[in-house]
Amino acid sequence: MKAMLLRRPAPVEQSPLELVDIPVPAGGEVLVQVRACGICHTDLHTVEGEIAGKLPVIPGHQIVGIAGGQRVGILWLHTTCGACDFCRTGRENLCEQARFTGLHVDGGYAEFVSARAGFLVQIPDGFEDAQAAPLLCAGIIGYRALRLSGIQPEQKLGLYGFGASAHIAIQIARHWDCEVFVSTRSAGHQQHARELGATLEMPEDSLDAAVIFAPAGELVPIALRALRKGGTLALAGIYMTPIPELPYERLYHERAIRSVANATRGDARQLMELAGKIPLRTEVQTFPLADANRALLALKRSEIRGAGVLVV
Ligand SMILES: [Zn+2]
Ligand SMILES: [Zn+2]
Repeated sequence: MKAMLLRRPAPVEQSPLELVDIPVPAGGEVLVQVRACGICHTDLHTVEGEIAGKLPVIPGHQIVGIAGGQRVGILWLHTTCGACDFCRTGRENLCEQARFTGLHVDGGYAEFVSARAGFLVQIPDGFEDAQAAPLLCAGIIGYRALRLSGIQPEQKLGLYGFGASAHIAIQIARHWDCEVFVSTRSAGHQQHARELGATLEMPEDSLDAAVIFAPAGELVPIALRALRKGGTLALAGIYMTPIPELPYERLYHERAIRSVANATRGDARQLMELAGKIPLRTEVQTFPLADANRALLALKRSEIRGAGVLVV
């Protein structure tokens, strides 16, 4: 099969992913023929070495494919132990033994991928393969970040960064009748946010909750300034540059900062249900599998409107 393989992390400008022809994976529980695989900031962090798993590795963890004649989705969460304290209390996203797709095991930048039967999700009807792919991480993480931010219907929400995850999260928040404010540097992303109902001027001291999607620690004090008393700032990324020192009064009055780590299969099921019901509309830019380096570079440069997806 054809696959995009990472042997050694490097800046994506150097095209570290190599198109290879390798045997179809054997020995896993379910063999899935890949139709589409979304690209994610986590893939970029993997390719550039900011997070480390196995090497060589095939990245990609927002996979829509066919197994046993059925369309299935594969998630970032490849497997958990099922027995630890976290697994037994509904927090399998924090499992000590968790293994992740496209990091610890080969992922979906390939024609075939092997997955665990219990970790496949159903994809709602009405979504083309490429449109469904970004739901599988960008959508789920956006949804979990909203939940952990504590945002309630009709409240004021701030989003920092407006890529794949935020363009889905805003649709959920608007469905809940929230007023949504977006801060993003890219003119294209600003335009997209406006089209989806965002206000681009961040208010001071008045957001009930905010989510930072951009991996930029310097946004934390900025976002705290927009947050009202008692508000929560959720950090949605797996990686972030260091957070600058901040005066305590920025945080005081029970403002909270919390990270969002991975997601559970429960989050996935809930998001898929919402996706069909709202219905969510994902905007995608597709690339051929062999152009994965170019796709990740476009992601790094904030040049993708909505979500990037490799079509296999
Ligand atoms: Zn566990
Ligand atoms: Zn992801």
